[in-house]
Amino acid sequence: MKDKSFIEESFPVREVSEISAKEKNIRHGHISTIHIWWTRKPLGSSRATSYAALIPAPKDVVEWDKIRQFIIELSKWENSLDHNTIEKARKYILNANSGKPLRVLDPFSGGGSIPLEALRLGCEVHAVEYNPVAVLILKCTLEYPQKYGRTIKKEIKDDFLEKEVEINHLLEDVKRWGEWVLESAKKEIGKFYPADEDGSIPVGYYWMRTIPCQNPVCGADIPLTANWWLAKKDNKKVSLYPYVEGKKVKFKIVGTGYEKIPANFNPEKGTVSRAVAVCPVCGGVVDDDTTRKLFQQEKAGERLIAVVLHNPKTTGKRYRIATEKDMEVFKEAEKYLEEKRAKLMEEWGIDPVPDEPLKRVPVTFGVINVWVYGMNTWGDLFNSRQKLALITFTEKVRMAYQKMIEEGYDKDYAKAVVSYLGLVLNRLADKNANLVVYNVVGEKIEHVFGRQALPMTWDYIELNVFSGGNGDWQAHHDWILNVLSHLSQIPPVEVEDGGDGDENER
Ligand SMILES: [Zn+2]
Repeated sequence: MKDKSFIEESFPVREVSEISAKEKNIRHGHISTIHIWWTRKPLGSSRATSYAALIPAPKDVVEWDKIRQFIIELSKWENSLDHNTIEKARKYILNANSGKPLRVLDPFSGGGSIPLEALRLGCEVHAVEYNPVAVLILKCTLEYPQKYGRTIKKEIKDDFLEKEVEINHLLEDVKRWGEWVLESAKKEIGKFYPADEDGSIPVGYYWMRTIPCQNPVCGADIPLTANWWLAKKDNKKVSLYPYVEGKKVKFKIVGTGYEKIPANFNPEKGTVSRAVAVCPVCGGVVDDDTTRKLFQQEKAGERLIAVVLHNPKTTGKRYRIATEKDMEVFKEAEKYLEEKRAKLMEEWGIDPVPDEPLKRVPVTFGVINVWVYGMNTWGDLFNSRQKLALITFTEKVRMAYQKMIEEGYDKDYAKAVVSYLGLVLNRLADKNANLVVYNVVGEKIEHVFGRQALPMTWDYIELNVFSGGNGDWQAHHDWILNVLSHLSQIPPVEVEDGGDGDENER
């Protein structure tokens, strides 16, 4: 294409911007759910700009409007897999460029939006990145679905019938082995997330970090929280109610469905604000510098306060105060973690809990202030049971690879399958960390990277990785399967082998 490209003359900026902005709400099958990547470009604008750059500007000005209209249609998420629209775009690009697929190189591919859309538009795509996380994302977005994710027809014969079915082996294997990982992990550590006697399943465990009161005659442990809310909806308000017994702060649950919230109690007023803490026992104040120092000197602790429950027979969530038994189970998990950690360290030659320092992360990564509170390694971002869960899932993913090799799978293919399981694990790590807050308006568990930062949280919610609900392994597995299914449906590009650097390249 030697003439000016369409984008050099015109582009429906406003319309494509509006469509791209809406993409944030689209989740199922979208690559934003494969793995977090900062500043991943919207697919709509990536597709539209790529297309407009690959077709010539028409000589006839009347044609402009038709092309602009088509670009608007093309940029819509709902047309991502629309055969007619995509084929039309592919044909137009081919015709404008002497019938051969164009080669597109993205030297800074990042989250993969531009190479993915160039691929969708029928180009031979080369994506380059040097960040290993991005490389993994790109392989799972571009390479593996194209290489292994094709739907093929397969004849099934048994004693009763003979039929032809369509099968996507990659999708089937990611499904099968993800389920295998879940079952194996559950068998081993499921006991550390026991259900209540009435069948209620703990969805999450609510923790508060604590510091010792600095008043020498008091010395109580101060549970840190900005407020006491558990649920803060229009029709449901549930709060923790702290009271003092001796030198200990104890709790009751009050609000909708429980005892009434006492009139003189304000759930908005917790024990800490901007790192200044107030002791509920003696009223003593701990200033912000001292609070940070206590954390750095490892004098801070944490306390399991409450359990968030879901009973499969009813809707909505219930809350109860944590018991001795809850803590016993947690301590057992802690003990088992040390055992397992030593065993895996022996087997793998490295600490399975990441021990790399947090401080060395460059500032460009975002705001990281947790090390001010004595969290020095990446491993410190997880409590003992969270560590146990994550190293167990990691171990099972590695075992899945070994088992595939034993079953005679091709090595590169088995690597593709476990790469997707690695993505499931990464999603889980983002949800199963001690910086995850409980959203009291939605009564749901948030994730670490709500924004590009690792901000300190006084209280946090620990996920049940087997809850059967939002955020557990199964849920993350489903997200990955959805994206893989979408990516597998992008039609292949016929690419010639080699290449002699002819005029078709740009
Ligand atoms: Zn005190």
